[in-house]
Amino acid sequence: MNQLFRLPQIGEADAIAEPSADLRVPFAQSGAFVCKFIIGEPSDQAVCCGAPVADGKSWCAYHRRVVFEPARPGRVR
Ligand SMILES: [Zn+2]
Repeated sequence: MNQLFRLPQIGEADAIAEPSADLRVPFAQSGAFVCKFIIGEPSDQAVCCGAPVADGKSWCAYHRRVVFEPARPGRVR
């Protein structure tokens, strides 16, 4: 028998739910370990996601997928 158990990577599930709106905080009040993804229009009243992030990350898992979404085929300027 040669069984391999393939466990999913934590935090890399196929479907990541958008963080709760309850977590959102004014950008100016966002701490060092919360998602900095701006919700809505950047302005002096900018609100960011606020979900907790891993050390050294700027965005939560959900918004990392948004930010680093692979470019679509074809040229994008
Ligand atoms: Zn986020």
